[in-house]
Amino acid sequence: MAKNHNRNDENDVCSFCGAHRSDVELLFTGNGANICNRCIENGHRILTESAEETSRKSQAAPLTRDELMKPSEIKEVLDQYVIGQDDAKRYLSVAVYNHYKRLLYTPGENEPEIDKSNIVLVGPTGTGKTLIARTIARLLKVPFTIVDATVLTEAGYVGEDVESILARLLQAADYDVALAERGIVFIDEVDKIARKSDNPSITRDVSGEGVQQALLKLLEGTTVNVPPQGGRKHPEQKFVQVNTRNILFICGGAFDGIERKIAQRLNTRALGFGRAAVQRVDRDNLMQYITPQDLRSYGLIPELVGRLPVLTYMRQLDRAALRRILTEPRNAIVRQYEQLFAIDGVRLRFDDEALDYVVDRAEACGLGARGLRSICEAIMTDAMFELPSSDRSEFTVTADYAREKVEKSDDLAMKKVG
Ligand code: ADP
Repeated sequence: MAKNHNRNDENDVCSFCGAHRSDVELLFTGNGANICNRCIENGHRILTESAEETSRKSQAAPLTRDELMKPSEIKEVLDQYVIGQDDAKRYLSVAVYNHYKRLLYTPGENEPEIDKSNIVLVGPTGTGKTLIARTIARLLKVPFTIVDATVLTEAGYVGEDVESILARLLQAADYDVALAERGIVFIDEVDKIARKSDNPSITRDVSGEGVQQALLKLLEGTTVNVPPQGGRKHPEQKFVQVNTRNILFICGGAFDGIERKIAQRLNTRALGFGRAAVQRVDRDNLMQYITPQDLRSYGLIPELVGRLPVLTYMRQLDRAALRRILTEPRNAIVRQYEQLFAIDGVRLRFDDEALDYVVDRAEACGLGARGLRSICEAIMTDAMFELPSSDRSEFTVTADYAREKVEKSDDLAMKKVG
């Protein structure tokens, strides 16, 4: 024994772990008890962890009716982020409200069960489908994940099982299962898993239909064993059980060419109803007449269409909408650049003609609002490189400047290809 003291003297022993004063760095003596530095550290760790746990749990605490935003309030917030798309915003506000109201309600004996209101959003690329879903999730403070339907496969094939969707949601919820169980999943490009023929018995696109089948249970509500890190590549991991009953699924897709199916249906129907019916049809925006039947004609299986009861559409963005998107939303691209420059003490301005030019280019590339960002990047990169080291306090983007930068970047792209 290196130290000559009585190891049984209880004044020299931690009252919690029993360690002797000589074996620890510090031993605090209190009123009839001692505590060593290690026990204090452990206690602190447990307290911190449990505080984190409580704050997570409090997020997952059941919603109350008062907390629930009304459809008009939901739409008001969507208006701050999403330009146009009024029909979709109204539909979605109601669907989301009903979905979360459903979570609050336990049916009594003679009361009806409320069905899930999963949503399908049809519309061209870059019209705000993902943006609207993401905004709703942020608004409701629920976890959100985006998956691409094209990478999903039936179990047993190369690719991701549909269960991987839940692994991602769980990750977004920081592994809080209760929170994940009322999150929102956005399944993008759902049109790409349509079977390729109207008639299932002729050319069956097995993979697409298989994925549709695999999605059914998930959309309806089932308990899934989810490998926490996703994928079946880590078979040793423990599974987490996630129930999808209260998860809101929003499916999005461009459904290229679906207007033809809508037109066909309207024409057939019009035959029965006479000319008056045909005249009332707004041929420029056939999408507004979309029905579940059109999704079936496009190649979604009836069971899947049945589990996506809320169907709405996003319009192709016109020039005016693209122009507003540049400057109006809370996170508008132009506002973001202004902020980036303001941090360096530079006041950034865009001439109206410069913004018109950006819109011209975005319209020409046909990617909806998606084009705006990359065009602005092409315009702003040089300035973002040079201005922080200059002593300028103002910078104005003119149409000529914008054109010059975009042409330079086009040139570069051509050379890369060549
Ligand atoms: P989609 O999912 O329809 O292909 P996204 O929602 O991903 O399109 O849109 C891409 C980007 O374009 C968004 O992040 C947003 O900046 C912008 N955007 C698209 N549509 C709108 C809109 N209606 N209002 C405001 N911004 C939009």
